[in-house]
Amino acid sequence: MAEIIKEILKFVPSEKVSDACFEGANIVLYTKNKEFFFDNEGLIRQVVNEFKKRVELRPDPSLILDQEKAEKEIKKILPEEAGITQILFDPQRSSVIIEAEKPGLAIGKQGSLLRDIREKTLWIPLIRRAPALRSQIIENVRAVLYEHSDERRKFLDKIGHRIYDGWLREKKNEWIRITHLGAARQVGRSCIFLQTPESRILLDCGINVAGEGSDAYPLLEAPEFNIQQLDAIVLSHAHVDHSGFIPYLYKMGFRGPVYCTEPTRDVAALLMLDTVKIAKSENREPIYDTDDVKEFVKHCVTLNWEEVSDITPDVRLTLYNAGHILGSSMAHLNIGNGLHNLVYTGDLKYGKTPLLDPANTMFPRVETLILEGTYGGKMDIGIAAHESDELMCSHIREVIKRGGKVLMPVLGTGKAQDIMVMIEGMVRRGELEPMPVYIDGMVWDITAIHTAYPEFLNMNLRKMIFHKDENPFLNPIFKRVGSQKERMQVIEETGPAVIMATSGMMVGGPSVQYFQHLADNPKNSLVFTCYLGEGTLGRRIFGGEREIVFKEGIKQNVVQIKMEVLKIAVSDHSDRKQLMNFVFKCSPRPKKVIVQHGDSTKVLDLASAIHKLGHIETAAPKNLETIRVK
Ligand SMILES: [Zn+2]
Repeated sequence: MAEIIKEILKFVPSEKVSDACFEGANIVLYTKNKEFFFDNEGLIRQVVNEFKKRVELRPDPSLILDQEKAEKEIKKILPEEAGITQILFDPQRSSVIIEAEKPGLAIGKQGSLLRDIREKTLWIPLIRRAPALRSQIIENVRAVLYEHSDERRKFLDKIGHRIYDGWLREKKNEWIRITHLGAARQVGRSCIFLQTPESRILLDCGINVAGEGSDAYPLLEAPEFNIQQLDAIVLSHAHVDHSGFIPYLYKMGFRGPVYCTEPTRDVAALLMLDTVKIAKSENREPIYDTDDVKEFVKHCVTLNWEEVSDITPDVRLTLYNAGHILGSSMAHLNIGNGLHNLVYTGDLKYGKTPLLDPANTMFPRVETLILEGTYGGKMDIGIAAHESDELMCSHIREVIKRGGKVLMPVLGTGKAQDIMVMIEGMVRRGELEPMPVYIDGMVWDITAIHTAYPEFLNMNLRKMIFHKDENPFLNPIFKRVGSQKERMQVIEETGPAVIMATSGMMVGGPSVQYFQHLADNPKNSLVFTCYLGEGTLGRRIFGGEREIVFKEGIKQNVVQIKMEVLKIAVSDHSDRKQLMNFVFKCSPRPKKVIVQHGDSTKVLDLASAIHKLGHIETAAPKNLETIRVK
């Protein structure tokens, strides 16, 4: 038995505890004593205060009501208006997940209905909001977790043992090192290796979509990196340049946890599966397969924003809103019990977007800030949100009027939904005539995930999603394109419309296919909305190439570009000013800023500006360079 549990059991009468285990950093005690479960006279609270750890008391599985009877009882207790869509039992944890259209009504006044369920069935009820749009990926992810609940229980217990291993051990010499294995002086393949005497942690592990050969992947051959010693991965957000290489680590035998938010897990899984699918459809060998993605899902430990969790013996993690895409987070790491506090921003938006609140700037403590600098150059002056709205609006109006189609290559997540909310708003306010907006495959799936996690969206949008008839994503202007056949119909048979399809940089995916068919008609337009990596098809077209040769086996397809080409920046990254503001608004102000995730000139320039204006020590390391922060 782990030391910490032995210590806890000195406080709790051992005859009342039937089992004890870890669930990640949480300590779970089971009891066969009903009275003790319902009333332990504050004993558990005392233990929590004493140990400063999360400790939970649960009924032993032998105490709880049989599932069939419990389901009947639950349906009797909950009012019909709550709209129960699913009841899922998790016997390993003595908990029952109840999915409801109106969670508030299922919870009852001050949790009264939940209390009733607990008392009558002894199951611990967890209420979840039924998503407004069905999402296959969420259902699949949940099914994987459900099917492997036994394996997961053992996995979470193992993490706990690792975290509390050496709980009473003397602290060694303390030091902290940070090595960039990717994304230093470049955009793509984000991967930061954090080492302390007790921990080996990766912050993100992504793919450089625009890179070729080994340049596409993080530099895991760095001598200090050893996959066998890796404790955990912290994933800031779902974009492939931050998450895309993680399944490869599972393929190579990694079996530790990935910490992220729930929407990040779901969107990342979807993007990873898509990477596999695209490679196969192009007759390339994918670097990992769907089974490796499944391992990723099985090993995710999800956290809410501002939920503090130990992840190794000397690192405590808290995620904060990063304002970039659904679920995107900054990672705050308290290392060595207050010795040093580090914040890694991931990708950051310090400004309001149609979807999200601006990034958080209040931290308990920060000494070192690892900052993204995608648009950190002197010339990166973003246009105000209302200006890009107007630009988008007038452009769509013009193309529709001349009978054309607007093709928008989008990253599946983030901007696509921003633009959807933007267009829907314009239609609702009468600024745009209603016209069909085709949402191709994956973009639709990701939109559905947005409706499942409204608590990660800004207040305004959250309120609209709660009211079914105001939910912008349910507006009938949005039409799903789910198959190749439907795609061809959109291209050949429909009139003026907007089409949103991945990939955003036009490296594979349906956006390329639409482009091949729509390019030679001057009535159509191609609107780029995101960062275009060096060498990508998107960058080439935006840079002025007007003839593109596609190789299809031995045949060649030459596409002449006659459609209008433009870029409307709807950025979910911060521009230069927002990045500077973010650093200076950070409370407390960091003592050192490490700038990365940006082209060389931009990160160097941003680092020097922060140094000059803020008198803060800055660095813009190269890949494989190590910085000792303590
Ligand atoms: Zn991103």
